[in-house]
Amino acid sequence: MEINKQKFIQKLKEGIEVLNISYSSEQLEQLWEYYLFFLEENKKYNMSTITEPEEVIKKHFLDSLVILNQVDFEDRKRWLDIGTGAGFPGMVLKLFLPGDSFYLLDSSAKKVNFLNQLIYKLGLKGIDATHGRAEDLAKLEEWRGSFDYVCSRAVASLNVLLEYAVPFLKVGGLAYFYKGPEYQAEITEARSALETLGAEIKESIELDVPGLEAERYLIIVEKNDPTDNKYPRRAGIPKKRPL
Ligand code: SAM
Repeated sequence: MEINKQKFIQKLKEGIEVLNISYSSEQLEQLWEYYLFFLEENKKYNMSTITEPEEVIKKHFLDSLVILNQVDFEDRKRWLDIGTGAGFPGMVLKLFLPGDSFYLLDSSAKKVNFLNQLIYKLGLKGIDATHGRAEDLAKLEEWRGSFDYVCSRAVASLNVLLEYAVPFLKVGGLAYFYKGPEYQAEITEARSALETLGAEIKESIELDVPGLEAERYLIIVEKNDPTDNKYPRRAGIPKKRPL
C-alpha cells in the first residue's frame, strides 16, 4: 500500500475543517505519526482490520473527534476511556484536549503496550495507558468516583457499559458513549441499569462524521448519586447478566 503523507494530511485537514474543529499543524503531524506507528504495530499485533489511510481517517480519527463539535468540554478535566483498543477515542481526544488528563484502559496487554509506546513517541504528558478490566479497576480507591468524564466506543451494550463506567465517575460526572443505529433499543434495555446505578440519560445526539455513511450517535449519561459498592460486580458478570 502506497502511503503519501501529503495526501493523508490533506484528507485529515479537510475532515477536521468540515467538523469545524480548530487544529494546528502539530496536531495533524501527531495524527500522521500515530497512523504510521499504528500500521507498523498492527502487522505484529493485528489490532484492527481498518488500515487504509482514508478509512483510518474517517472511521477512527474523525469518528473519535466528532464529539468535539457537539459538546463544550470544560478545561483541565480527568477523563477515562474504557476499552480504548488502539486509542479510540481517548488517545485522539487527548491530542485535541492537551490540558486534560486522560486514562486509557484496556484488558488487552498488547494494545496497552502499543499505546504506551505511542505516548512515549509523541512525547505526551498527562496521559496514561493501563492494562486491566474495568470491573477490577473500578474497585481501586484512586480510580473509583474520581473521573469528570468517561468515554467509550464499541465495547459493550449500554446496560453493560453503564456498570463498567458509572462507578468511575464523580457525582455530577458525565459519560460519553459512541453508539450506532441501535442506540434507542439500547437505551430502552438500560432503564434498570440506570436506576440501579443512580444515573440518567442527559441527551442523545446524532453525529455526522465527514465521509462516513454509517449512522453514529452519542449518548450522554450523568451520574446523580454515589454508586453502591456492590457495583461493578466481579469481572465478566456485567456482560453475562446485565443489570
Ligand atoms: N474503543 C476501541 C475502538 O473503538 O476502536 C476498541 C474497541 S474493541 C471492539 C473493544 C475493546 O474493549 C477491546 O480492546 C477489549 O480488549 C476492550 N474491553 C472489553 N471489555 C473490557 C473490560 N471489561 N475492561 C477493559 N477493557 C475491555
